Amino acid sequence: MLVCADLEGRVPDSAEALLRLPGVGRYTAGAVASIAFGQRTPVVDGNVVRVLARVRAVGAASDSKPVTDWLWKTAGQLVDPDRPGDFNQALMELGATVCTPREPACRTCPVRPQCAAYRLTGQRNGPVKLASAPVADIEECASPCPLCLPADLWEPERGVLNFPRKPRKAAPRAEQVATCVLHRDRRRFLLCQRPESGRWRCLLHTAYFRNKTLFYCTFG
Ligand code: SF4
Repeated sequence: MLVCADLEGRVPDSAEALLRLPGVGRYTAGAVASIAFGQRTPVVDGNVVRVLARVRAVGAASDSKPVTDWLWKTAGQLVDPDRPGDFNQALMELGATVCTPREPACRTCPVRPQCAAYRLTGQRNGPVKLASAPVADIEECASPCPLCLPADLWEPERGVLNFPRKPRKAAPRAEQVATCVLHRDRRRFLLCQRPESGRWRCLLHTAYFRNKTLFYCTFG
């Protein structure tokens, strides 16, 4: 609607401009800008997180700020300037089909020669046992590295699967939610719009109850 009303129907062609649209996040902006418009800009999804974390042996929690910043920066440096869309899709595909979460096909992986996780663990066809965690450089010992896998979390039998380390899950929260579909003659339906900031900004939804509180057009 905003694209039609304010931008004369033209979808912005850069990640920066796309990010200013309500509901568009970093991933979507990067994907549209690089694949549809050929902008040299990165895309980081779960597959890219896994590939980069393994290729560079980054074992700190993958949702921490230092790791997130590093992932976007590194992905941005790697993007092929001539074929950014193809490069981004290939990286995501590599994670989806070769460097998979549980059974990475290291033997046939095209980036194996560059893969630090493979080098560190000596993985061949499956996880192998190592006596100890990878040893940090002497320069890194003065202060804990925000990207490295903490030595006490190293699990030798997991091989390359030590990377990346999954974010800690928040404790589950019990909630009761009921959605109300309010209509007039089945022709007109009541929709509410989320605020301009925060999660799912500006998205339309039906009114709903959460834990017996009615969430209508305002959110606490
Ligand atoms: Fe992933 Fe193995 Fe390839 Fe490294 S060598 S990127 S761990 S599939």
